[in-house]
Amino acid sequence: MSQSYDYDLFVIGGGSGGVRCSRVAAQLGATVGLVEERYLGGTCVNVGCVPKKLLVYGSQIRADLEDAAGFGWSVGEPSFAWKTLIANKDKQIARLNRVYEGLLDGAGVTRYSGRGVLLDRHTIAIGERRVTAETILLATGGWPKVPQIPGRELALTSNEVFALDELPRRVVIVGGGYIAVEFASILNGCGVETTLLYRGSLFLRGFDDDVRTHLAEQMKKRGVDLRFESNPAALERRGAGIAVQLEDRSQIETDAVLFATGRAPLTEGLGLEAAGVETDGRGAIVVDEEFRTNVPNIYAVGDVIGRVQLTPVALAEGMYLARRLFGGGAQRPSYDVIPTAVFSQPSIGTVGLTEQQARERYGEIVIYRSSFTPLKNNLSGRDEKMLMKLVVDRASDRVVGCHMVGPDAGEIVQGLAIAMTCGATKAQFDQTIGIHPTAAEEFVTMRTPVPSG
Ligand code: FAD
Ligand code: NDP
Repeated sequence: MSQSYDYDLFVIGGGSGGVRCSRVAAQLGATVGLVEERYLGGTCVNVGCVPKKLLVYGSQIRADLEDAAGFGWSVGEPSFAWKTLIANKDKQIARLNRVYEGLLDGAGVTRYSGRGVLLDRHTIAIGERRVTAETILLATGGWPKVPQIPGRELALTSNEVFALDELPRRVVIVGGGYIAVEFASILNGCGVETTLLYRGSLFLRGFDDDVRTHLAEQMKKRGVDLRFESNPAALERRGAGIAVQLEDRSQIETDAVLFATGRAPLTEGLGLEAAGVETDGRGAIVVDEEFRTNVPNIYAVGDVIGRVQLTPVALAEGMYLARRLFGGGAQRPSYDVIPTAVFSQPSIGTVGLTEQQARERYGEIVIYRSSFTPLKNNLSGRDEKMLMKLVVDRASDRVVGCHMVGPDAGEIVQGLAIAMTCGATKAQFDQTIGIHPTAAEEFVTMRTPVPSG
């Protein structure tokens, strides 16, 4: 490509989107540089999906031990060492950081450590160094947002939870999204007395209402104190603990507070003004459908564009961009069918439209819903039900939403997402032979619709 710049492509941010785009671009023959200021692999690898899932595995074991007796196992009084879990998690993350280094080196991407700052539309400063690039990708991700209330500095965010030395005896979690719900389950599973405060009437806004209600019931049974219509007004140090003053003037004494109140695009100190890159009212970098900012040679993908904050989406955007720029044949990522899981306990798996969204879009819909006690719980005695739900467009018979709450929900719904991407109809679900005995077979055996109206 151009001879006048140091690189064909320079990427700021070595997370999911940035690493994928730089690797693919280099493999397609571009000269590529990448700068990362904190940790290679970004949020997902270091303080997101991967360590979170390891903590989910660790915390679930308490329930497995409780379930064991019904199957004839007697285990002594279990004990749990958070420090061991964190130390082993840290080893895995360090290994993954090295894997990421190897992947970039192997693809021929030149790595820089430090903060990348735009000086103009083709120049990036990394400390005292200056590099130039024909094309620049901004993939700087997001950062936790914390409400502006007195005492907010006493609270943790997800960033710090992964590195806690000791588990608190009690925790108050603020928020009702993915992180709040997942960490409420993790900490409760690890034996922490857990209270979740959510400002609205039911957590997980945007998910199917049956899923939200069902999960709330099951989490309460597992011992999480869910308090809806409840929000903190201030935090105050009280001895070794923290007093949480609520908006209704009541108070909760706790040992730690975790804010899980959303994540904002991370653009501070990035030099957007110097390069003339525009952001929207939420601070997200504005891009067109090709991920191009208002500055024609500068692109952005992933959490920093404020669309869908999920790793596979950032990967798809990064991959698309590399192929489009450097000629590997590119199909624009589709945001229509994005499966997602919430790794709560029990977990949620969902793809497509909620019942309400489908009703608004299609008018006439048919709902299939099943709530049942899974086979295992008949012996374990666990008082927990699974929920499965299909949303079908009556006119076309297409399945437009699949939702479940129960163990392995993400594993099950991934397969259903393929069927939905292919436009599967309810008749085709019905034709599909089940795998017996599984919970997943329920998705192909639900025959009686929920009465409408
Ligand atoms: P990031 O992965 O955040 O990468 C951005 C990188 O840029 C960072 O490494 C940052 O240090 C670096 N950077 C920022 N500014 C600069 C600069 N000026 N110079 C140099 N480097 C810079 N998603 C899922 O799909 N599944 C999950 O289970 C899941 N769990 C999550 C759990 C938690 C607790 C959190 C917080 C997030 C989770 N996510 C999950 C979301 C997922 O992590 C993000 O959507 C994904 O990491 C976004 O990728 P990205 O490349 O846009 O940004
Ligand atoms: P979410 O956007 O999912 O949830 C934020 C929650 O905080 C909402 O319940 C919101 O309430 C509430 N909230 C926002 N502002 C305030 C405030 N000022 N006071 C009180 N409550 C507030 O963000 P998370 O932080 O949970 O996670 C960030 C993103 O990371 C997720 O959206 C998801 O995309 C990704 N993620 C994905 C995971 C996965 O795939 N399993 C796991 C973890 C994160 P309201 O709904 O009323 O606005």
